[in-house]
Amino acid sequence: MADGFSPPARLGVRVRGVVQGVGFRPHVHRLAKALNLSGLVRNDGEGVWIEVEGPQAKAFVTRLQAEAPPLARIESVVVELLQAEGGAAFTIEASAKNASTAARIPADAGICAACVDELFDPANRRYLYPFIACCDCGPRFTMTRALPYDRPQTSMADFPLCEACEVEYTSPASRRFHAEPTCCAACGPRYDASPTAIVQRLAAGDVLAVKGVGGFHIMADARNASAIAKLRAKKERGGKPFAVLVANLASARQWAEISEEEATLLQSPARPIVLCKARGDLGAIAPGLDTIGLMLPATPLHWLLFHEAAGRPTGAAWRDEAQTAAFICTSANRGGEPLVIDADAAQARLGEVVDSIVDHDRGIVVRVDDPVLRMIAGAPVVLRRGRGQTPDPIRLPREIPPTIAFGGHLKAAVCVTRGSEAFLAQHVGDLDDPDTIQFYRETIARLTSLLNVKPVQAACDLHPDFISTRFAEECGLPLTRVQHHGAHAGACAAENGLTADYLALALDGYGYGDGGEAWGGELLLMRGARSERLGGLKPLPLPGGDRAAREPWRMAAAALHAVGRGAEIGRRFANQAQAPALAALMARGAPTTSSCGRVFDAAAGLLGVCDLQTYEAEAAMRLEAIAARGRAFTQALALDGLEFDPAPLLAQLADASPEDGAATLHASLARGLAVIALRAAESHGLRDIVLTGGCLANRLLAEHLGAALQAGGIRAHFHKQSPPGDGGLALGQAWLAGGWEDQSCV
Ligand SMILES: [Zn+2]
Ligand SMILES: [Zn+2]
Ligand SMILES: [Zn+2]
Repeated sequence: MADGFSPPARLGVRVRGVVQGVGFRPHVHRLAKALNLSGLVRNDGEGVWIEVEGPQAKAFVTRLQAEAPPLARIESVVVELLQAEGGAAFTIEASAKNASTAARIPADAGICAACVDELFDPANRRYLYPFIACCDCGPRFTMTRALPYDRPQTSMADFPLCEACEVEYTSPASRRFHAEPTCCAACGPRYDASPTAIVQRLAAGDVLAVKGVGGFHIMADARNASAIAKLRAKKERGGKPFAVLVANLASARQWAEISEEEATLLQSPARPIVLCKARGDLGAIAPGLDTIGLMLPATPLHWLLFHEAAGRPTGAAWRDEAQTAAFICTSANRGGEPLVIDADAAQARLGEVVDSIVDHDRGIVVRVDDPVLRMIAGAPVVLRRGRGQTPDPIRLPREIPPTIAFGGHLKAAVCVTRGSEAFLAQHVGDLDDPDTIQFYRETIARLTSLLNVKPVQAACDLHPDFISTRFAEECGLPLTRVQHHGAHAGACAAENGLTADYLALALDGYGYGDGGEAWGGELLLMRGARSERLGGLKPLPLPGGDRAAREPWRMAAAALHAVGRGAEIGRRFANQAQAPALAALMARGAPTTSSCGRVFDAAAGLLGVCDLQTYEAEAAMRLEAIAARGRAFTQALALDGLEFDPAPLLAQLADASPEDGAATLHASLARGLAVIALRAAESHGLRDIVLTGGCLANRLLAEHLGAALQAGGIRAHFHKQSPPGDGGLALGQAWLAGGWEDQSCV
């Protein structure tokens, strides 16, 4: 081949990653045609196999990656030289029979720009059709019953293609070649209410349950305070913030300051809820908070609602212009219960909450909540994993034996590994409710069957009484029990590719400590699978156990007691009937906790920001919101080696303004924790630290801490794809249980 007259090469190209069900074969076909190549393409168990022959074969390989379809995620391309075969045709071959071994179901994707164009093109046969989809967009995971990902295995099997759709589905040149969700008004699913009717009801102040992609949403007019108040009262959610659906970026900017990165996230195919800095008082949408969860249209119906609300404008300009309309769009479930996915359940569970139900006739096979993200320290962090993210894997630093991890109790999520891929399932909820437990059970079964994986080992929390622990004990596999905060650290380390020793700051609500203590503010040394507590927050009394976690005034009383100011408790919390009893209880000795979350609670109680929480982390979120308006005052910190006593800091807040106190709390906590971490880094000769635990959803704390650690010369690693809170636990459990030979920690 060195004589300059080499015959046209035939290249075998192996592509791995998310390359099935995302329009990859038509992309290959078009490219091969454009470059005059002969050959073939087919899906198989490892991904996509391509053979191309012709002078431009090398250019094909370059453009194959550079011009890949938007939903494809190419992880590797391996090229080999094959014997030339001649021939002129390029063919798409049928999928190989064993296509399920490593193949994946793609995640759901929000409506693409080309489909929005068609949706509003009066000449298009899918004009205003709310189920328009193509190779680049539409439901995937939520409608799939089993692998391989083919139409008969999805809930679209109930909708045989009409002739016109069939032609597109079978034409390699079409945007809908083998697009499994494709359909049209003649053959596809329907809503039982028109966009006109839906918008009229919303405008009249009604609260609706509207079926979407991964479940029902509860929707209301976001500009209508009485509709929101009605929803809040009926949904029994206290002051928990609602997400708001807006038409486009210009509309989002009416509500919040949107950075470039946030704009990119909002428009990404998953169409997540992105927490952004609100422009003004959010009123009943998010009482006391300065961040708002915004979402852009994820489905054709969302676009149709904005079109209707804008008075059915023609042309495309309105799609980029700021729109007045905005809708509350929140998961349709009652506190603790799983997301509702069918109309009967909607009627039974939400009949009291909503004025009416809007249904469609395409089945939801897998319930998946909207994902929630926030920019923290310059990078997106997943706070809740959901639609558009599952079942995409998180890459582990190396291959581990197939492992199933059962997560924790709150925000339960399971994780199954296959090779070096970790499949962290979607948010399930708190395992207190029988229906949530059933959903958890389904998620486990679905994940293992879809991945075609037989786990050889299991992992769970150290807590003996968690329901997730019981599931793990009953699964019949060798079981590793992983300490809660070690698992948090392991999750962050796994996704950041850390394999050498590292430190961890786990700042959390509650986790069962090595000896059964109530931990949640720990400095850990991580060596392989082992976590060793080096120090952290000095415990405070936890008067009243679980009640203390819901009633910040109790933690405030605990902090006063800890600095010898217990005599003030009765006077300060005169409106709490149990205040005098609490003082006496602590005098006799109460259980204690080193939880960072409870330190925030104590501060909120002392600053008068939140006496009773109506949802998890309310006190901390309210403090973060007001801290920006305050000025931190410096004060000496109570540091003793690697222990940081928060009680004196808290006691000082007792006399500060809420804003200054909140600012001081964030700055001082970060400073004190950074000092002990830097001391440990120096004495152990380590340069990497992971920042993990539920408190890392707090941007102010995370950024203060990250900056102080970086300034001290160590690398701070944050969560990205896995939640820093308990939704990410299972990833860390799997990695610590499966990734190391030395399991002596447990
Ligand atoms: Zn599309
Ligand atoms: Zn059709
Ligand atoms: Zn936790």
